[in-house]
Amino acid sequence: MPFAALGLIEPIVQTLASLDYTTPTPVQQQAIPAVLSGKDVMAAAQTGTGKTAGFALPILQRLFKRDKPVGSNAVRALVLVPTRELAEQVHESFRSYGAGLNLRTMVAYGGVSINPQMMNLRKGADVLVATPGRLLDLYRQNAVKFNEVITLVLDEADRMLDLGFSKELDQVFAALPKKRQTLLVSATFSDQIRAMANRLLREPVRIEASPRNTTATKVTQWLVPVDKKRKSELFLHLLKKHGWTQVLAFAKTRKGVDELVGLLDAKRIPADAIHGDKPQPARLRALERFKAGDVKVLVATDVAARGLDIDDLPVVVNVDLPIVAEDYVHRTGRTGRAGASGEAVSLVAADEVEYLAAIEALTRQTIRREEESGFEPDHRVPETTAGGQIVKKPKKPKKPKGEVKVVQEDVRFRR
Ligand code: AMP
Repeated sequence: MPFAALGLIEPIVQTLASLDYTTPTPVQQQAIPAVLSGKDVMAAAQTGTGKTAGFALPILQRLFKRDKPVGSNAVRALVLVPTRELAEQVHESFRSYGAGLNLRTMVAYGGVSINPQMMNLRKGADVLVATPGRLLDLYRQNAVKFNEVITLVLDEADRMLDLGFSKELDQVFAALPKKRQTLLVSATFSDQIRAMANRLLREPVRIEASPRNTTATKVTQWLVPVDKKRKSELFLHLLKKHGWTQVLAFAKTRKGVDELVGLLDAKRIPADAIHGDKPQPARLRALERFKAGDVKVLVATDVAARGLDIDDLPVVVNVDLPIVAEDYVHRTGRTGRAGASGEAVSLVAADEVEYLAAIEALTRQTIRREEESGFEPDHRVPETTAGGQIVKKPKKPKKPKGEVKVVQEDVRFRR
């Protein structure tokens, strides 16, 4: 099916052709006509499904078709995202898909000076991509007005709630015009997300899209049990042993990320880090260098890597398992795309067994274990089942010390 068949206008279809987008993805096939018709949409879709174009293309078309220019400080389409990186990335998508449409797009997030954002907003924006906290700051300072908003997008809504933006979101919702189109995109649907959807969406079109290729079939997943203190050493060992050329590695904390990068640097293996302490330009630079192949190992935390457009990776290594099981799916989804095969390897220490069990329950599988010779752990990682149960070894009965007194309990049932 060509893009034009979904009702997209010629200039957009041409831009897509220049980007080598020939066929709409399943989420795009469902979302584009629904959004064009002005309906609310609730989409279960994660990075890699083509979700961004799924909402950005029809939004751009609807904005293009309205003849009145946007008022000063006003915004017509508001796209809320959880992180700065995703904000940059989604904004970049709007810019490239909207080339030639003569619409004003803007991005605003915290951690950088607010003044240029305030200046930019004076002329108004057809599309504003923003993180919730900074958006509220701008609103409170009267730098942005919501009276012209026709479409609200909540992208990666689950992540926004995970990151604690629920209060900010409620404040934004309260300030928006009641009559508007709302699109909610989320990889997972917890009770909290469903409640939010029920409050915000009117008779939404429901869309469910699996990633362009599902992780389960194309990605080989395995884990290596290892003692916590030997994880970095094991990582280096596996890197060398398998001859991996491009690896995205995840660590739990910023400190963990920096330590691993330090170790790789010491071994002269080109590596870089992406985490919340790094200024935005440094993060984007790290990503560019990784994509260009100048950096062999990119080490990231979940929050910082969320939404980053890192496609077609051969290998993802979970140096630490994620605390939130869904993040395992997001991480794994970065490899094995577009029909390529991929590997997702987890280095698991005994104290992570509960995270492992939750991941296995969510993904309905038992991840294959492969002990690495020389790295067998002193602290055994308990067995797990695909149902997410931790198999507890029956405790050996303690040998009685000396004389054992058996107390006969008097058990009576009350009527
Ligand atoms: P997303 O799921 O929105 O993060 O998109 C994932 C990647 O797929 C991005 O690199 C997009 O540029 C790319 N993409 C989205 N739609 C298409 C399409 N129809 N054909 C080819 N690539 C696409």
